[in-house]
Amino acid sequence: MIYLDNHATTAVDPRVLEAMLPWFSDKYGNAASRGHRFGWEAEKAVDLARRRVAHLCGAGAREIAFTSGATEADNLAIKGAMEAARAKGKHVVTVATEHKAVLDTVKHLERQGCLATVLLPRPDGQIDLDALAAALRPDTVLVSVMYANNEIGTVQPVAEIGALCHERGVFFHCDAVQAFGKIPIDVERDHIDLMSLSAHKMYGPKGVGALYVRKRNPRVQIAAQIDGGGHESGMRSGTLNVPGIVGFGEASGWCSKEMEEEAAWETTLRDRLLHGLQAAVEGVEVNGTMEHRLPGNLNVSFAGVDAESLLIALPDVALSTGSACTSATVEPSHVLKALGLSRDRAHSSVRFGIGRFNTAEEIEEVIGKVAAAVRKLRAMLPAGLDSFVV
Ligand SMILES: *Cc1c(COP(=O)(O)O)cnc(C)c1O
Repeated sequence: MIYLDNHATTAVDPRVLEAMLPWFSDKYGNAASRGHRFGWEAEKAVDLARRRVAHLCGAGAREIAFTSGATEADNLAIKGAMEAARAKGKHVVTVATEHKAVLDTVKHLERQGCLATVLLPRPDGQIDLDALAAALRPDTVLVSVMYANNEIGTVQPVAEIGALCHERGVFFHCDAVQAFGKIPIDVERDHIDLMSLSAHKMYGPKGVGALYVRKRNPRVQIAAQIDGGGHESGMRSGTLNVPGIVGFGEASGWCSKEMEEEAAWETTLRDRLLHGLQAAVEGVEVNGTMEHRLPGNLNVSFAGVDAESLLIALPDVALSTGSACTSATVEPSHVLKALGLSRDRAHSSVRFGIGRFNTAEEIEEVIGKVAAAVRKLRAMLPAGLDSFVV
């Protein structure tokens, strides 16, 4: 099997696994136990992990609250900020290409009486800063725009978005799951107030993530969504997942060291994949922009080819279409729809997610296999390829 679905999840790096193991067995203390060495040891390990996660995005360690993942962090950021700032207003702005953890959280708030503006991106996937500026109102509490998209890899002009929000006195939440550890992030340069992170998208374990919560200029208040023992400065109660957090810290450490080199390598593989596919078959079109794109992301449509059929024809390559299967029909991805792509084009789109452990040989093999499958599927079309390729 060749794994090219690194936006869905990544393998735990063996170096990360190694660092985690003692915290399951010998060192099993509760980081909140203040009365003995088991607890102190665990707390120290959590503190180190907190510093390593913070270091990767220019944050202070005390601004990092660990969560069960980015879905929880998105919920905590958006619900928590809207609840805490109720006196200011109840308007929130987001974008149609956000992750469901953001969009469905905003929908939930709308049912509870909040008001939402959901911006459409430009056809390249980036948002229009003038449209964002026009959407801000005196009662706007929060803007939520992701750093980089999980389907089309588009990187948003985050520093400009953050500067605009700060100028207008609005909090800026950024779901940075796909960007964290892949491209440089700095919460100061980018003017980010709240930022969601997840370990399993950057070679750490599943079930652990974090919310960055700005402490100064301005201090951001959020209302806790899980009450209990007051862990994580009262923002997120619940016994800490010490092995998971240690793994998240270790994964962040390796990304700090290797990000630049890894990004260059993944870009090389990604560009080779695109050019190889375009040379092998006609009608290969890029979704999103190649200019502001995550290093390991490629999302293309193959004219006249049903993407679900293509995946079935490639049983030993792990890829994704981004489509959601509802009871009877396959719905094209909400991201591709928001770009304004036709139904046919959206249904013929495939996401390639290149990661740390992919090799040049794998990319060559995938080019050959995908091209062969595309040719085979097109040969089965009644009208032939001509009617699809423009
Ligand atoms: C994967 C992902 C999430 C959800 O993260 P979990 O830790 O799996 O809950 C949220 N946002 C984006 C952009 C993602 O890619």
